[in-house]
Amino acid sequence: MKILDVELVTSASVAGPRDGLVRDDIPQFAFAGRSNVGKSSLLNALTRRKMARTSAAAGKTRQANIYRVSVEGGAGGPGTWATYLVDLPGYGYARGGDESARELSAVVDAYFAAGQRPRPVPGTAAATRRGAIFLLVDSRHPGLPSDVEAFNWIAATALPPIVVATKVDKLSRSERARHLREIERTYGRAPVAVSSARGEGIDELWRMMAAVARGVER
Ligand code: GDP
Repeated sequence: MKILDVELVTSASVAGPRDGLVRDDIPQFAFAGRSNVGKSSLLNALTRRKMARTSAAAGKTRQANIYRVSVEGGAGGPGTWATYLVDLPGYGYARGGDESARELSAVVDAYFAAGQRPRPVPGTAAATRRGAIFLLVDSRHPGLPSDVEAFNWIAATALPPIVVATKVDKLSRSERARHLREIERTYGRAPVAVSSARGEGIDELWRMMAAVARGVER
């Protein structure tokens, strides 16, 4: 699999009826998580480059950065395909959890609800043909209330997000097993374990995205 091109399409405000989000037929994968969870590191690892990023000043309307990525090959065989990676505003620090959760919920709704309940793709439990939402949680802190809250908001709005456990390189082997089990218990499904520092889990995320975006049954 080769990343051919990454382009920042827009920095969209995420709230309101004129939300500026992109809605076309290209599948979208949104990345949500608390500030500092490792979201931009993961996006850089996925695209294999440092991506341009606007940082939202406190109090300003926060933005979702939407990147269009062109890919060659991967799951589903050769061929060029495209997807949007959506970097959602982080939650958890300055803003109240509830406000951030509502914001997330609005984005999820805009993408996936659109009048109809999304139909899960077989073999990809938490995805539709139009994409999926990855919820990043820090593997060192399983079961944080703000993460659980975000999970529940997203799940209630559209479909359960795919949980990604970040920074697994920071855990010892026994901690890793214990924390991943606890995350699984909390969210009802084993997380995808990733380390942007070591490149772990990156291929797996791309396999999942390619399977959804290209309609490959797994
Ligand atoms: P964001 O706020 O969610 O975008 O988080 P960043 O990607 O900026 O990462 C926050 C901090 O965690 C930075 O100091 C990163 O270097 C560090 N970090 C991110 N991913 C990893 C990882 O996989 N392993 C380790 N050890 N550190 C990481």
